[in-house]
Amino acid sequence: MHSLKTDPESEPQMPDKNESLREIRINPIVPSESVLVATARNMRPRKQEDPAPRDTRKHVEQCPFCKGNEDETPPTINAWPDDENWEIRIVENLYPILGEDQQSDGLTFGLQQAIEGYGRHEVVIDHGEHGIALQDMTPVHIQQMFITYQERMQILYDSDKRIHYVLAFKNFGPAAGASIAHTHSQIIAMPVIPENVYNEVQNSREYYNKHHRCVFCSLIDEALTYEATIYDRDSGQVQRKINVGQYVIERSEHFIAIKPFASRYEWEIHIMPLDHQADFLEASTDHLADFAGLLKRTMQRLDTVIGGAQYNYFIHAIPHGEDYEDSHSSYHWHLEICPRTSIPNGFELGSGLFVNTVSPEVAAEKLRAVKLDEASGTA
Ligand code: AMP
Ligand code: ZN
Ligand code: ZN
Repeated sequence: MHSLKTDPESEPQMPDKNESLREIRINPIVPSESVLVATARNMRPRKQEDPAPRDTRKHVEQCPFCKGNEDETPPTINAWPDDENWEIRIVENLYPILGEDQQSDGLTFGLQQAIEGYGRHEVVIDHGEHGIALQDMTPVHIQQMFITYQERMQILYDSDKRIHYVLAFKNFGPAAGASIAHTHSQIIAMPVIPENVYNEVQNSREYYNKHHRCVFCSLIDEALTYEATIYDRDSGQVQRKINVGQYVIERSEHFIAIKPFASRYEWEIHIMPLDHQADFLEASTDHLADFAGLLKRTMQRLDTVIGGAQYNYFIHAIPHGEDYEDSHSSYHWHLEICPRTSIPNGFELGSGLFVNTVSPEVAAEKLRAVKLDEASGTA
């Protein structure tokens, strides 16, 4: 990817063969999605650009999401702790991607097939403070954000049987495509299952049928295996020693944050429950308290290492509906965090192959090495 960040290591240098890694890594969940990990310095983009700076102000008079400007958005759907002293507020999106518009006629003709753009699009104003970053929010607040997603997702699933998937996601910072600086997330109820969720569900079901195990649970077990030795079957000689625990960034009582072996984004991190659970809506409030602490610490690490994280995150969970009832044992919900430090280029768009210029092992090591301030981790 074309790098957005200035990085002192990126001055032109001859590639060091020992340091360079050039391999196509297969996504263990969806094998058709692979990533080119290419860390050779000469693979690095020539021109470095700084990402657009983030707005860190606490209150902005003209911001439609700031306190006091509630009449600049559609009416409050729900607020926490209450409408007047809200710290989290949900509203309809003023410019919805999907809506309750009238049915359009003639959606299909020959090769031109379409599905009605029915759906719902809501904005969760995450916090009363305009430019606050997630790692600076309290764990109780972060927990409440995820409880809020759960409540709305449940209501949206129940609202209409044309809804096949409800996606909760967050764009943070201009580099992540956020058009409004005030911290916010979005919930979109869709008439289709997103292709990447569908592929994950199908592939993990195939894995389950073959191995009688959830592939995500297997990944967690591998990540928690701190050292493994692979022996040659015939000679009994040690073939390779691997330290797979190197992918663990954070661990709590009920959750784990992992740097995926086939990370598409340089600083991508996935968080998943340690115990098998297919549906995010089934995560208990206690577990979400634990999750919030882990997410906060993970974001602190990220922000420290990359110097101001701008990112997207989204929740992938089992879709609702009869067709997915038999996938509860094989699918495992998770949060994918995709920090945006570079812009996909023509090669990536043309090939569908993401290029990652930081070795996931090195990235994980750097993220783990951050010394967290204990006090701020639990504030
Ligand atoms: P982002 O997609 O990250 O740029 O999020 C901002 C979202 O807020 C966009 O989807 C906009 O459509 C939506 N939006 C912009 N202005 C308003 C407003 N005044 N009230 C409600 N939603 C808005
Ligand atoms: Zn604001
Ligand atoms: Zn599982």
